[in-house]
Amino acid sequence: MATLGNPKETIAILNKYNFSFQKKFGQNFLIDTHVLDKIVNAAGITKDDVVLEIGPGIGTLTQYLCENAGHVIAVEIDKNLIPILKNDTLKDYDNITIINDDILNLDIAKLAHEHGAGSIKVVANLPYYITTPIIMGLLEKEAPVKSITVMVQKEVALRMQAAPGTKDYGALSLAIGYYCEPYIAANVPPNCFIPRPNVGSAVIRLLLREEKPVRPKSEAHMFKIIRASFNQRRKTLVNGIKNSPELGYTREQTEAALLSLGLGASVRGETLSLEEFARISDALLDME
Ligand code: SAM
Repeated sequence: MATLGNPKETIAILNKYNFSFQKKFGQNFLIDTHVLDKIVNAAGITKDDVVLEIGPGIGTLTQYLCENAGHVIAVEIDKNLIPILKNDTLKDYDNITIINDDILNLDIAKLAHEHGAGSIKVVANLPYYITTPIIMGLLEKEAPVKSITVMVQKEVALRMQAAPGTKDYGALSLAIGYYCEPYIAANVPPNCFIPRPNVGSAVIRLLLREEKPVRPKSEAHMFKIIRASFNQRRKTLVNGIKNSPELGYTREQTEAALLSLGLGASVRGETLSLEEFARISDALLDME
């Protein structure tokens, strides 16, 4: 039975081990059972699932995951938390593997394979300082992942699922939309954590697409165009591409490519859809 997820038990564990929070690891532990239920429900965890949890902390969400999943692999960077997990909060579960490492150093495909899983579900209350590297690392390396259900800063969740023309739209929205279908499952206020973060949070579920929504001639080239267009937010796409250190197109070449697609020279990235970026990328490659 899960025992954590409330302030009393959490504080008792913290005191028992004289644990001091490390700010550099983004440690904000969950103390609200409703939020924990929402994460597990949004992730749709069943006994058929192998779950990768990034940053178990003292094992609060991990207990909920162990109750619901077939197997849980929990990767925690802070060595001070490992004895708490192993000797105390997770000791009664036989479907858990605890790894003391930096998630960014691990080969997720190998990990899934070692646990006999074709693909895994990722669930986490993420350390906010590395949200984007963790998520983009999983997506770009095409790790064998079915879904990613994570607590992130609210503002980041909004950027992930933003539509063209809205204020939150940018390179992250396009990258997420290319690989996944995003869905914000819950907004979570600071008082659901100890210590309280100074930003609002949200649980977002990213369901990995079976097929990409666009098929550009070169995915890497399309993302260079996307980065160029949002590097200088208020600039036109033409200027963004001309000034990009990653690309070598002149103003004239870019204007000609846009014209061939019926787009004006003053168009800006923030209004363009993923389909349009794919077409612009292909048109520029065709000019080489
Ligand atoms: N899951 C716990 C909970 O919900 O109460 C803790 C979440 S806390 C926001 C983030 C956790 O990630 C911390 O335990 C922190 O030590 C761990 N962490 C930070 N950076 C990490 C990294 N690079 N690799 C693995 N774990 C990391």
